[in-house]
Amino acid sequence: MIAGLSPVPIWELRDLESPRVWTVDGYLNDLPSLTPVRGTIQAEHRGNVLAVHGSLQTIVTLICDRCLNQFNQQLISTTEELIWLGEEFNDHEQLQASDGSEQMTGLLERLDPQGPFDPQQWAFEHLNLQLPAVNRCGNECPGPPGLSTSASEESLDCGSDPRWDVLKQLQMSDPEQPDPEQP
Ligand SMILES: [Zn+2]
Repeated sequence: MIAGLSPVPIWELRDLESPRVWTVDGYLNDLPSLTPVRGTIQAEHRGNVLAVHGSLQTIVTLICDRCLNQFNQQLISTTEELIWLGEEFNDHEQLQASDGSEQMTGLLERLDPQGPFDPQQWAFEHLNLQLPAVNRCGNECPGPPGLSTSASEESLDCGSDPRWDVLKQLQMSDPEQPDPEQP
């Protein structure tokens, strides 16, 4: 829970003369991070839409999918989003009449105009989107655990040694060759 980021009724934003700005500095409950989430979130009521702009960053600790070691990853989210305010999501006439509709691309989020806007939830969702689909610790990744460094180096050498290529070709050209391991 980040102090000062409590949900605010959307109708309250409507009466403001300038966008509401939140300064973010703290930890999100649902996104454990190494450093506090820092940045700003800005919300402006434009009639049928709520224009939200956020610039957030933090550092999270992830586990590499390959070597299972922990590594730190910086997450940076710079997002401008228009949130549709209304009951009907697909009311295109209203959508086109609303200010800023030309910026709308793709799917829109929708919020109940009588309901709240939760800047903390918004921050969580947008930082969460920045999490990589595949976790890789980097170019220095030692590879899967259990495979020692020398073993992985050997297998790399095999690939480049022409003598092994000859052996592979022999095995492939003679499928009837009995496997000495088999009884
Ligand atoms: Zn790794």
